Amino acid sequence: MVGPETHIDGPGAVELLKGLVRINSVNPSLVEGAPGEVEIAEYIAEYMRGIGLETRVEEVERGRPNVVGLLKGMGGGHTLMLNGHMDTVGIDYMEIDPLDPVVRDGRLYGRGAIDMKGGLAAILAAAKAVVDSGVPLRGDLVVAAVCDEEYASIGTERLVEEVRADAAVVGEPTGLGVLVAHKGFAWIDIETRGVAAHGSMPEKGVDAIAKMGKVLVGIEELQEAVLQRRKHSLVGSPSIHASTIQGGRELSTYPDHCKLQVERRMIPGEDASDVDAEMKALLASLKEADQKFDGSYWITFVRDPMEVSPDEEICRTLRQSALDVTGTEPSFVGGGGWMDTQILWAHGTPAVAFGPVGEGPHAAVEYVEVDSVIEAARILELVATRFCGTAP
Ligand SMILES: [Zn+2]
Repeated sequence: MVGPETHIDGPGAVELLKGLVRINSVNPSLVEGAPGEVEIAEYIAEYMRGIGLETRVEEVERGRPNVVGLLKGMGGGHTLMLNGHMDTVGIDYMEIDPLDPVVRDGRLYGRGAIDMKGGLAAILAAAKAVVDSGVPLRGDLVVAAVCDEEYASIGTERLVEEVRADAAVVGEPTGLGVLVAHKGFAWIDIETRGVAAHGSMPEKGVDAIAKMGKVLVGIEELQEAVLQRRKHSLVGSPSIHASTIQGGRELSTYPDHCKLQVERRMIPGEDASDVDAEMKALLASLKEADQKFDGSYWITFVRDPMEVSPDEEICRTLRQSALDVTGTEPSFVGGGGWMDTQILWAHGTPAVAFGPVGEGPHAAVEYVEVDSVIEAARILELVATRFCGTAP
């Protein structure tokens, strides 16, 4: 075997992963009537207790538990959190058996295999290896299996109120790269108001849908002339697009109302105040050019982007550990999708994502490469001992 000594039990980690995939943990906020995390939380809690972690299952909301395992250190070291979400997106549209983990050509197939039961298995296997090594840590190791990441992240939101860590690694799929930045997003409702009137009376009617057309043109200009020209080295450009539109009453009547929903993806350095300023300027310019334009907007939901310096201790430790295990320098990468890392980071904990190789998160076919789960586990085992420190 290449690299430093390890106590990772490879076959045990694969069995654990299969056990996780077999349990349906579809998020009930996404799919009505889905089972959620109760059963998988019990399975994980049992595993944590089995390896000797101080384990607690906590209901964040009814039927929506977190599981937090603590390996108490001897003191004098840093606290590291390993974090993974237990929930998955829906399974109805899958082209493989979502709950029967089949391994073929080194790939384990099933819902959640890559997003992110593979990462969760790696985290748990790493914690077990640390215990099995018999070498006590100085700092605390916190292993958090959280609920609801795929919807509103109530799990990690609760976790940060209760647990402080000096750094966190979230086991989302990164192809064994170290993810140090990702985009955020804002959802915006825009409304235009017109005047309802008989379709034969253009002097009375004001067409709210046509007015919204001007907003749409403005959004396209913003996208092409401004946002696409900004660039972040790891996550690329910010963007804005229309998502849904409703308006009008009937064929023979001027529409008095139109509603547009828009999504704006933000890069590190941007926040909701930038989005607010863009919307304000757009609607003001439309009003200035057209006295009959009457529109307003509301930013309804915001998740900020995140960026952690590659010089943070957790980044340096991960880089060195990955290099020692695999023989190659891992890349520092950025991601488009928002993650729980941002919640931890916003609470003052440097957080990165690091996880296995695979394809098909949220897709009809999903798999994780089994060897990469074991590699991730070996790397996280090293990260835990190095970041928390070991007693002499
Ligand atoms: Zn995920």
